[in-house]
Amino acid sequence: MAAGYLLKEANFIDRPLSDDEMWSAFAYLFSSKSVNDTSYKFGFLKAIIDNLYNTDSKLILTFDQLFAKFTEIYWNLVLKHHIRQKNPGKLNRQSELEKALIYGKEKYGILEDIPFESLINDMQIDICHKVKMKCKENVVGALYADLGGLFYSFSKSGEWIQINPRMYEFVCKHKVAIEKLNYYEWAKFLEKVNEDSAVDHLLSKIDESTMRTRSSLAYYRDILFEEFENKCFYCGKPVTKRSVEVDHFIPWSFIKDDQIWNFVLACPECNNRKRDKLAQVDFLNKISDRNEILIERDHSSEADSARRIKMIYDWAKKNGYNEIWTPKKTTV
Ligand SMILES: [Zn+2]
Repeated sequence: MAAGYLLKEANFIDRPLSDDEMWSAFAYLFSSKSVNDTSYKFGFLKAIIDNLYNTDSKLILTFDQLFAKFTEIYWNLVLKHHIRQKNPGKLNRQSELEKALIYGKEKYGILEDIPFESLINDMQIDICHKVKMKCKENVVGALYADLGGLFYSFSKSGEWIQINPRMYEFVCKHKVAIEKLNYYEWAKFLEKVNEDSAVDHLLSKIDESTMRTRSSLAYYRDILFEEFENKCFYCGKPVTKRSVEVDHFIPWSFIKDDQIWNFVLACPECNNRKRDKLAQVDFLNKISDRNEILIERDHSSEADSARRIKMIYDWAKKNGYNEIWTPKKTTV
């Protein structure tokens, strides 16, 4: 399957898979046998990983979802840190991705250091569209082939991928490890194609570039406060709109996304003590019931993701989030 990038569409291989087989698919992708002219495969895999919980019930992700993340990741790496994503050689060649980002920056007269999420919506959409049109041709089929046709089906004309349910489960279980392997190989590639000075502190630059600045949570606070209880989700203490804090029920560091189905209102004390931990399982049941009401009242367009919170909790545990927090006193 050498010329994967030429495929217009393909289906994942549908047969039972052992964990060993799934690990070897990733081992191949991260080996020197997988050839890279650009860093796209690493960026695209990262975009899929960051969208794992945004699939619909058939595990479909659209190119628009994926390339929005992809563009955001590269915006900082390319424009802020000036890290090349392709060997420039003597002719100072740029990848199509770099051209598309520079096009967007120049078209809108954007300054170097403005983070992608601060651009107004229309600019973001335009730039993502440009990146998608330039990059989808090569990367979607190439990553498909490098993972042995096991990870997803895709259609370039339909602009979607559909993740193999067997691989989905596996990747969710080993998300943190796969993400770290991806970073490591991505960094190795970038060291090869960049000048020394560009790649100082490379791993932290990649990490920072893939980390969305947390958005303002006031919008979610208001919905939850007005429609649900004005008590701390954990200890039951009464809270006011001014004193209440918005807590990511599944830690933000694991989920890296702001979705209403993962938010609860907490008093500052509980929020501060819970930090990066999971809450005990009673609270998982409580948020799960709450999410059903959210869906009913139409506050969560992501019903499939909202219903997956119990699975995500379990995956977080398997990925090293095994310290379980309990509030001091509870009146639940
Ligand atoms: Zn509390």
